[in-house]
Amino acid sequence: VFITFEGIDGSGKSTHLRLLASELRLRGYNLVTTREPGGTPLGARLRDLLLRGEEQVDPLAELLLYAADRAQHVRTLVRPALETGHIVLSDRYADATVAYQGAGRGFPSDLIADIVRIGTDGLMPDLTLVFDVSVAVAHARMRKRNGIEKEEDRFEREEVEFHTRVRDAYRQLAAQEPTRVRLIDASGSIEETHARVIEIVLPFLEE
Ligand code: C5P
Repeated sequence: VFITFEGIDGSGKSTHLRLLASELRLRGYNLVTTREPGGTPLGARLRDLLLRGEEQVDPLAELLLYAADRAQHVRTLVRPALETGHIVLSDRYADATVAYQGAGRGFPSDLIADIVRIGTDGLMPDLTLVFDVSVAVAHARMRKRNGIEKEEDRFEREEVEFHTRVRDAYRQLAAQEPTRVRLIDASGSIEETHARVIEIVLPFLEE
């Protein structure tokens, strides 16, 4: 079973992946937790290039690097783990490309669909949890995480518009594929959101 965690930066998805993982381990499930970008050694280097490089990454190069990260991830880690009977929980996967590179950067949907098909090697998640929160709340959480007191340049209008497009794309995915993609209201407390995650995932695994 392959479950992916999606949402805008500051949505809380990584926290909820950790909480779900410990809950499932307690229940005796065999788990592998991973992330994109950066789930493999090559991926860790790509993540560094994408997120910490000195050079501005061109959007097309960025699209292809995320796809390369995914190909390495699927073929060396995710698929082998699934084949040995593990549940795989991944912090981001293919839907991030639709949301960030598609809606965010504006690449056309047919190009995105091709890149997703190639990068995933045809492997789509069984279940995708989208942690849905307003851009204002997400940015406030990120400011808190980064120890920034006031609204600063980093969260200027451009960033608000970008994350609004990304959020809308995730919501649209949930509307288009309601069986696979489940929208979770992540605006409340960690406990409230965790309870919603459990409510969806446990019945899914017991099916
Ligand atoms: O989820 P995480 O915080 O690890 O993501 C790191 C960054 O990579 C995020 O800021 C996200 O915006 C970006 N990203 C992206 N396109 C993807 C995956 C991640 O822009 N396909």
